[in-house]
Amino acid sequence: MSNTNYSFFGAVEKSFDKAAGYTKWDKGLLNQIRACNAVYQMRFPIKRDDGSIEVIEAYRVQHSHHKTPCKGGIRFAAEVNQDEVMALAALMTYKCTIVDVPFGGAKGGIKIDPKKYSPFELEKITRRYTSELIKKKFIGPGTDVPAPDYGTGEREMSWIMDTYSAMHPGEIDAAGCVTGKPISQGGVRGRREATGLGVFFGLREVCNMPDVMGKLGLTTGVEGKKVIVQGLGNVGYHSAKFFQDAGSKIIALAEYEGAIWSDKGLDVDQVFQHRKKTGSILNFPGANNFAKSSDALEMECDILIPAALENVIDGENAPRVKAKIIGEAANGPLTPEADEVFTQKGILVVPDMYLNAGGVTVSYFEWLKNLSHVRYGRLEKRFTENLNTRILSQMEELSGKKVSDNERELIMHGPDEVDLVYSGLEETMINATREIMKTWREIPEIPDMRTAAYVVAINKVATAYAELGIFP
Ligand code: GLU
Repeated sequence: MSNTNYSFFGAVEKSFDKAAGYTKWDKGLLNQIRACNAVYQMRFPIKRDDGSIEVIEAYRVQHSHHKTPCKGGIRFAAEVNQDEVMALAALMTYKCTIVDVPFGGAKGGIKIDPKKYSPFELEKITRRYTSELIKKKFIGPGTDVPAPDYGTGEREMSWIMDTYSAMHPGEIDAAGCVTGKPISQGGVRGRREATGLGVFFGLREVCNMPDVMGKLGLTTGVEGKKVIVQGLGNVGYHSAKFFQDAGSKIIALAEYEGAIWSDKGLDVDQVFQHRKKTGSILNFPGANNFAKSSDALEMECDILIPAALENVIDGENAPRVKAKIIGEAANGPLTPEADEVFTQKGILVVPDMYLNAGGVTVSYFEWLKNLSHVRYGRLEKRFTENLNTRILSQMEELSGKKVSDNERELIMHGPDEVDLVYSGLEETMINATREIMKTWREIPEIPDMRTAAYVVAINKVATAYAELGIFP
C-alpha cells in the first residue's frame, strides 16, 4: 500500500487548501499558517553494544510559533523522514487549536527501529538527542515540550527530563520540559490512556448526534456498535478497551503480524495477554485469523479505528472498506484519495487532528501541574467531601429518607487527580466535536468532517495571528 512518492506533508497541505477556500483569510496569512517555521535536522554518532559506531538521523520540527511553547511527540521508527515529521508537526498545530490547548505544533523523530536496539543503546540515543535539542534551544518548558509518540513512552520521557534537568540546575520548572512522564517524575494520572479515551469520547459524541447517525442509517449511542481496531499499541489498546467497557462489540483486531475476528466479540485484555505470551495476535482461542492483516480494514462494521501509522487506507483499498464511520486514532491513516472515496460513499471520517487530541490535551494538564507544582485535587478533595457530607445529611434530615450506601459514596466523593483529568478531557472532546459539527452545519457545502475541522483550526490560528497585529 505504501507509495514512495506519497508526501504526507503534501497531503496535509492539500487538506488545508481545500478548507481555506471556506474561510475569508488573506492568502499571505494562510501561507504563514501552513508553512513549517523551523526544521532542525541532526545527525549524531552512538557506539553500539558491539563496539561499532552508528550515525543516527533525527529531527525536530516546529510548525507554528503563534503560541508558545511548541508541543508534540517524538517518534522512534525506521520510516522517520523530514516530510513525515513536518506533516505531524503541522497536524499538532491544528490539533491544539481545535481543542483550545495554547501551544504551537511541533514533532520530533528519530530514524531507528527501537526493537533493534538494547535499552542501554536507546537511553544513549534519547539522551544525546535531548542534548542536541538543548544546544539549539529546541526544548524547554517555555519553548518546546516533547511527549511520547509511536515507539516511545514514559521511559524515554524520563530520560529526556533527567538530561534536561541535569543541564539546567536550579530551573524550578524543569519538569515541564516534557510530558508523558511517569507519575513519580511529575507525570499526571490518566496521561497513559488519554489518547484512547479521547478517541472514545469524541466518537461517542458523534454517535450521540441523531442527525449524523440518521444519515448513516445507525441508531444513536455506542452500545452494541460493531468496532474494528487496527493497532494494539497504547492508542489502539485503550481505544478498544473504552469501547468494550461502554458495551460496543470489538469484532476484529489487527496488528502488523496479522489480524483476528470473531462475530461474538473479542476480549481486548485477553487478546493483549495472548499476544504478549505468544508473540503474535494470531491463533487467539475462539477467534478466526484473517489471511492478511490489512483484510481487517475491509470487514463490515459500524466503526473502524485505524490506530497505528499513516497512509494505511489509500485510493486502492478505500473502495473495499465497508465501515460506516472511520475514527482516525492514528495521525494521517487515510490519504486524500481515500478521503474522496469515503465522501462519495457517504462514510463518515472523524479526523485525526481532533479525534486523537486527547494525548496533547492531557499533556497540557500535565504541563500545568508541573508549573504549579501541586497534584490536581490536593487542595479541594477533602473540602468537597466535607461539604457534600453536610449537604447530604441536611437533605436526609429534612426529607426523612436515606440514600443507598452506593449512592452516598458517589455523592460524597471529592475529586482525585484522575477524576479531574478524565472530566477535563471529556469536556474538551465534547466541545471540540460540537464546534466542528456546528461549523459543518453552518456551511453545508463543506464536503467532509476533516475539512470542517480544518476550517475551525484555520479560523482560530488566523484570528490569533490577526490579533497579534502582524497581518492587518
Ligand atoms: N504524540 C501525541 C500526538 O500526536 C501527543 C503529543 C503531546 O502530548 O504533546 O498528539
